Amino acid sequence: MWGRLQTRDRLRRIGLQVEQECPMCGMHSESADHLFTQCIYVRNCIKELNRNHHLIPLCSNMGRMNDWLQKPTVGRFRCQTIQCICTALLYNIWIQRNSAIWQGSLSHFTKVVQQIKNEVWLRIQSIMPRKVQNKDKDWLRSILL
Ligand SMILES: [Zn+2]
Repeated sequence: MWGRLQTRDRLRRIGLQVEQECPMCGMHSESADHLFTQCIYVRNCIKELNRNHHLIPLCSNMGRMNDWLQKPTVGRFRCQTIQCICTALLYNIWIQRNSAIWQGSLSHFTKVVQQIKNEVWLRIQSIMPRKVQNKDKDWLRSILL
């Protein structure tokens, strides 16, 4: 899926004359790998998400992130929660990228991380299975609230 997003490197490959630089950092060429794993903006978001718990590794490209997501290392509930956080992270990065291009504005990464936490909290609350252990509920509160 990552290779289908209309990032600037793809648009240039099909012949469109668009700027090359990442709209979020302005320092590197925009590609899916750069936007979602290498850009200082997404790295700051991941570091902020990891501030109290190590949730998401800093991967060098989308292939490595996808490989990591396919290898569950914690229980099912925590694994699904982390996948939900990653999905919300990627969605919000794409929203910020588009905002940088079309509105010329970029939210501070701490605001984006709070948005991600709110979205994941609401999502998990709406589909929380009944048989979640109390220690997992406590973990969920500690990472999102
Ligand atoms: Zn960048």
